[in-house]
Amino acid sequence: MRSWLFQEEHDLFRRTVRHFLEQEIAPAIDLCETRGSVPREIFRKVGQQGYLGIPFPESVGGLGGDILSQAVWIEELCRLGSGGIAAALTAQTVIALTPIWRWGSEMQKQQYLNPGIRGDKIFALAVTEPDAGSDVAAIRTTAYKKPGGYLLKGSKLFITNGTQADVVVVAAKTSPDKGRKGISLFLVDSRWAGFRVGRRLEKLGWRASDTAELFFDGIMIPQDHLLGECNRGFYYLIDEGFVYERIAMALSAVSLAERALSDASRYAQEREQFGRHLAEFQVIRHKLVDMALDLVKARRLTYRALYLFAKDDDAKIAAAMAKAYAGEMARRVTDDALQIFGGNGYMMDYPLQRYWRDARILSIGGGATEVMYDIVAKSVLQEGRKTDGGRDGS
Ligand SMILES: Cc1cc2nc3c(=O)[nH]c(=O)nc-3n(C[C@H](O)[C@H](O)[C@H](O)COP(=O)(O)OP(=O)(O)OC[C@H]3O[C@@H](n4cnc5c(N)ncnc54)[C@H](O)[C@@H]3O)c2cc1C
Repeated sequence: MRSWLFQEEHDLFRRTVRHFLEQEIAPAIDLCETRGSVPREIFRKVGQQGYLGIPFPESVGGLGGDILSQAVWIEELCRLGSGGIAAALTAQTVIALTPIWRWGSEMQKQQYLNPGIRGDKIFALAVTEPDAGSDVAAIRTTAYKKPGGYLLKGSKLFITNGTQADVVVVAAKTSPDKGRKGISLFLVDSRWAGFRVGRRLEKLGWRASDTAELFFDGIMIPQDHLLGECNRGFYYLIDEGFVYERIAMALSAVSLAERALSDASRYAQEREQFGRHLAEFQVIRHKLVDMALDLVKARRLTYRALYLFAKDDDAKIAAAMAKAYAGEMARRVTDDALQIFGGNGYMMDYPLQRYWRDARILSIGGGATEVMYDIVAKSVLQEGRKTDGGRDGS
């Protein structure tokens, strides 16, 4: 059946991407999971196909595709079943290269976007700090104006691709007294004096991606490495960057859950107990139906947000709804799938345990469920204020 959202060109692209991922990336999953990071060769391999620059114009080395094509890429990548590989590659494209494309100068695009799209350089976005997670405006890293540039001091936490990044897009306070109105974004080369990678953090899931602490011990950033306008960083992140990141996280949740459901459905039809296949027990059949219903709801919310975003409508509320619902749905569905696998689901020999572990971050990272609910609640309450509260005027 034709999708209401994707066109024939997207279906063709999906087939090409799926073939590439199954041939080139799937065989590397175990290596990446054990190593705790995605090797540079994989970034390059993906970059050579153009998949790190799908929505960027050809003039900067991109494929010149649309947001829906990039969504296809994210869905297929997550369908592989390694959230860590997906996290590393989407951290590069969705959260680090996108702001360079959106707000970068010509020099920044030529110098950074190009090698990022080719996969020759690895990128990260560094916003989170030990005392500033959900509350982005509370960051303490500072970048004070100096002759010829800015002096960067501070630290970051939980940074995906942090141990191997060549370039980091860093959020820092340029006017600390102005709160959220005093945040700017900078392009920071990890070879510069004062850049230090701290601990590589051990995680429950997303184990194929590296996550690190970063320290900036007085880095002198040249003036032309300020990204966009000074003091506009918070709005770049919150109004646009995070909306897109949330939709990408919701797409990841839907794809991962779909993979878990399909594995569980197959297993239920193969595994026999009490002389019958598991799928013949009504309780199992109904569990599979509950999982499918949950998945359909999450997908609808996600595609709605994606549709609005793709046609440049305000997608902030729709993205928060999709992220909140899909993130929680992935927890439920992977948990139920693991239950259907019984003891095998708990074993490292089967990938179910990885789906279950990888699903857990989807309701925390990129805006936790509670914070998404707060965003949606503001809109629901505002709508309520526009009505008479449901009173019958007669
Ligand atoms: C594996 C991993 C990779 C990551 N990658 C990156 C990255 O590449 N770059 C980057 O900058 N960051 C990254 N992050 C950080 C991630 O975005 C944050 O973890 C997330 O925003 C939540 O922040 P926090 O962990 O500090 O939790 P906190 O903000 O301390 O929240 C803790 C709990 O309190 C709840 N809470 C907080 N505020 C409210 C509120 N107002 N109302 C109700 N409940 C609230 C939260 O929902 C959560 O349940 C990563 C994190 C992880 C775990």
